[in-house]
Amino acid sequence: MKEHLFADHPREHCGLFSVFGVPGAAQLIYTGLFALQHRGQEGAGIATSAGAKVHSTKGEGLLNEVFTVRPPTALPGHLGIGHVRYSTTGSSRPQNVQPIVCECSDGLWALAHNGNLTNAKRLRHIYQDSGAIFQTSTDSEILMHIIADPQYRTRTRRVERALSELEGAFAFLIMTKHSVMATRDRFGFRPLSIGRLGQGYVFASETCALDQVGATFERDVLPGELVVVDEKGIRSSTFCEPVAGPLGQCIFEHVYFARPDSIVFGQNVHETRIKLGRQLAREHPVAADLVMPVPDSGNEAALGFSQASGIPMDYGFIRNHYIGRTFIMPEMAQRQDSIDLKLAIVPGVVRDQRVVVVDDSIVRGSTCKRRIAALRRAGAKEVHMRVSCPPVRHPCFFGIDFPSSGELIAAGHSVPEIRDYIQADSLAYLSLEGLLGAFEQPGDFCTGCYSGKYPVAVTEEHSKQDLEKT
Ligand code: 5GP
Ligand code: MG
Repeated sequence: MKEHLFADHPREHCGLFSVFGVPGAAQLIYTGLFALQHRGQEGAGIATSAGAKVHSTKGEGLLNEVFTVRPPTALPGHLGIGHVRYSTTGSSRPQNVQPIVCECSDGLWALAHNGNLTNAKRLRHIYQDSGAIFQTSTDSEILMHIIADPQYRTRTRRVERALSELEGAFAFLIMTKHSVMATRDRFGFRPLSIGRLGQGYVFASETCALDQVGATFERDVLPGELVVVDEKGIRSSTFCEPVAGPLGQCIFEHVYFARPDSIVFGQNVHETRIKLGRQLAREHPVAADLVMPVPDSGNEAALGFSQASGIPMDYGFIRNHYIGRTFIMPEMAQRQDSIDLKLAIVPGVVRDQRVVVVDDSIVRGSTCKRRIAALRRAGAKEVHMRVSCPPVRHPCFFGIDFPSSGELIAAGHSVPEIRDYIQADSLAYLSLEGLLGAFEQPGDFCTGCYSGKYPVAVTEEHSKQDLEKT
């Protein structure tokens, strides 16, 4: 892979939720998205239909900032789709918030995307060269343009054709005024599950959202599958040949991104993380007085570490959950010596203690360094850092927001160098074999961010601002 591919690349994690066949769909979608808020905090939107037209509301910010009127009475209907969006600076523009709603020759369509399309730039140029006008700078919008192409008569056929042109990672929810469609790319990079709610159907990025609305989990949308639900019922088709080799399910969903109460790719995330912590303790034991997690992402791995090592667990960090995006000014966030408002320390827990700090991952290393310095100020005698996944050395082209390799600390530095930078007494990461050992089908996961080996070649050059004109 050429170095230019490591340049700033598109970054989006998102959460998707959809309902078909339940009155008051908008309120359910709101609740479902609320359970998926961890997947994206920068924008939210819902589109619904009662059969006559598509209604939509979307905006920047958290769900409860966008939907101040609840239940969302402006969004009538028994079907709809919703989206919570995460994007990094640069392309956080109001028009990029999803669902994207467009009027095609046969009426209004809406779509919502989780993932990252690796051939969106090329396809966009082709469409622009023939006169198409794009509303957003997202990679997702291209799907709408291909669907609008009136080559095929039936809607399903048009969607299948359009999906077969896409490369990269996607879970899509698509709706017309009569139907909802749910699909995943052929490698299955991003999760999407199907649930039942009474006579209706629900789709969600994670099963925690199904639980929250009282739906029962039915199964995952399969890689390469298109599921269509309308008044005639539910139908399934495939839009591509199944992949010849292993799948590319994102292992980082289990390491960090998904909520512990979710079942992702057939396995409970909480259980996975406990296993990772236990394995970490076996691989990298250390003499210490207590194990403490970096909350919330390190909680389960720390518990597993404590169980396997016999070192008691305690809570030395207190996380403040009320820090909004507007509270921390950019200048303040950049100040290395600023008090870490998000994570406070209980001095009595750490004073004079040898502590093992367990976190799920180190990305830039900067927050980790600040926390270790704070622990020392609070009187910790030794600080041993343990990380429940291998060093993140490579970018993700498939929908996880890792910075460019220049900012990924493990891309340019050895473990001892990172230990010196974060000023830990010791630092150790879980091995790739140890990570894979926590899964029943380890071959079906993408480990590109650790190994540099991606399940499919990335042929297009990427930049976060690729699709921005200004
Ligand atoms: P670092 O020490 O590298 O600055 O930050 C590591 C922390 O970032 C870990 O606690 C980890 O849970 C968190 N983290 C890992 N991946 C992501 C991500 O994609 N987005 C956000 N917001 N945090 C992440
Ligand atoms: Mg964390």
